[in-house]
Amino acid sequence: MGSDRKRNPPVAAPFLPTNRAEMLARGWEELDVLFISGDAYVDHPAFGTPLLARLLEAEGYRVGILAQPDWRNPEALRAMGRPRLCAAIAAGAMDSMVNRYTAAKKVRNDDAYTPGGRAGARPDRATIAYTAAIKGAFKGLPTLIGGIEASLRRLAHYDYWDDRVRRSVLVDSKADLLLFGMAENALLEVARRLADGETIGDIDDVRGTAILAREAPAGAVVLPPFEAVAADHAAYNTAFRLAALETSPFNARQLAQQHGERWVVVNPPALPLSEAELDRIYALPFRKLPHPSYTELIPAYAQIKFSVTGHRGCFGGCAFCAITHHQGKTIQSRSPDSIRAEVDQLTRHPEFRGTVSDLGGPTANMYGLGCGDPTAQAACRRPSCLYPEICPRLVTADRRAVRLLRDLRAHPAVKHLFVASGVRFDLLKHQPDYFADLLEHHVGGLLKVAPETVSPAVARVMRKPGPKLFEQFLDAFREQNRTLGRRQAVIPYFISGHPGCTLADMIEVALFLKRHNLRVEQVQEFTPTPGSLATCIWHTGRDPFNGEEVYVPRSAKERRLQKALLLWHLPESRDDVRVALKLAGREALVAELCGGHTKTAPRAPRMAQRRPHRKPSP
Ligand code: SF4
Repeated sequence: MGSDRKRNPPVAAPFLPTNRAEMLARGWEELDVLFISGDAYVDHPAFGTPLLARLLEAEGYRVGILAQPDWRNPEALRAMGRPRLCAAIAAGAMDSMVNRYTAAKKVRNDDAYTPGGRAGARPDRATIAYTAAIKGAFKGLPTLIGGIEASLRRLAHYDYWDDRVRRSVLVDSKADLLLFGMAENALLEVARRLADGETIGDIDDVRGTAILAREAPAGAVVLPPFEAVAADHAAYNTAFRLAALETSPFNARQLAQQHGERWVVVNPPALPLSEAELDRIYALPFRKLPHPSYTELIPAYAQIKFSVTGHRGCFGGCAFCAITHHQGKTIQSRSPDSIRAEVDQLTRHPEFRGTVSDLGGPTANMYGLGCGDPTAQAACRRPSCLYPEICPRLVTADRRAVRLLRDLRAHPAVKHLFVASGVRFDLLKHQPDYFADLLEHHVGGLLKVAPETVSPAVARVMRKPGPKLFEQFLDAFREQNRTLGRRQAVIPYFISGHPGCTLADMIEVALFLKRHNLRVEQVQEFTPTPGSLATCIWHTGRDPFNGEEVYVPRSAKERRLQKALLLWHLPESRDDVRVALKLAGREALVAELCGGHTKTAPRAPRMAQRRPHRKPSP
């Protein structure tokens, strides 16, 4: 690297090298950092590996990307030679097991992050497979693992696909260092220290990293060991609860969990990025295109091509969601100027026809929001600023978001500016101007909201607002549309098979949907993905925070019936709805939910099981 360091990248930077010829075209004989990704290479900040690679490039490192390499072939991994500092490995924007398998553990036949949407371009447990392959190809090369798969599997965790508790992925992959969360500053620090001559074994104190150690550091919170949490549900719940209390970047302590002779030590999370740091990342010279070697469409790219991410993080703390765990609870927002500059750039795209498809983030109406009391925030250990009720210290003012929307609407080249990311409806009542603008200008007739359930008991397990607030929101939505003279609809998202949800609960949900004339188009079947609170409850049958026993719908039949109840309005659901009502002793409702149909309806093709993709998360 040497003299290259700190050099500014060219204004219209070429794609990062993906093979030796592209390295040589830049005059590079050797890389500093070799990135391995389970996703295709799309040079866009919505994809984690290109984002981090561009950031290192801007600091003068020579970086290359091997996207979806053949992990069984060492020569494929040696295509760009041995890097000088390290390999940085990620399974992709999704956990590879979630990417490869459905909630019913069937192999998916598509992959949105691969050209042509084809499945099979990445291995199962990609972090482990790629790390083993790199270690085989380059003996002794420091290996860093990161991305959502490594991040959420950093401690011993329940794995749905193996149906057992697995060790930390740091142990299973034998990687040298794990970066969790969004990782920009952690990776920059590790790269700098390696470049300065430290060995990877010396780098044990970087925020946002986990390492293996011979003993637990003094002062660390010691979790029950892997062997105990694998054997005992109570120990698993204890470990989950203790770890969940140490997630705030402002007060988390180190965590230590013994795995056999060694300890997995998790350092405190990285501090949130400042507005200036975030702006700098989005100003890096991304080409905003897939690498030119691809000849087929990459579905995930098609989805984000004309969308803009305004912020990261989510303070919702829903039990089933990984975003708070990965991006953090603190909202990190870009400046309006930075967003405006990206929209300017979009409007110059040759295929741009005037529509920005989404201005959003994990939860669109959290842009610019945050804790209004730094002292309280420094001590706060609440997993959510919204549940069980909105924290009085949360600043919910919508001025900043409204100004941004109005400014972008006035852009001469923008005809439509949509907010397609989901919104928190319980926040909207504190954001009257944003709500009004949203419905008047930015939803195109359909507003996506995610109550996920309207059963009070299930909402409590999910950490969601519940039916009363949802009904208030529906009233406000209708009222606002009446004022505007608009006919617009709510697209509600619901989850079936979530811990805590019985058939009786789901029947109540179906009745609510009917009463409110709501049609669910796609149901998300709950999948116990690594690291979430809901997965912990799924595994142990108890809430780790209050110790209460929680019902878990595990059988395929019950999961199918729950899904059918959410889709009660479809003819192909009627048979299952009838079975569910009979099992629950609610046959009196057959006429109401099945509309007097007595005949068996023909089975329809399998209903879509996945919600449209959220934006890929770096
Ligand atoms: S004090 Fe309230 S608003 Fe601030 S971080 Fe904690 S829960 Fe959120």
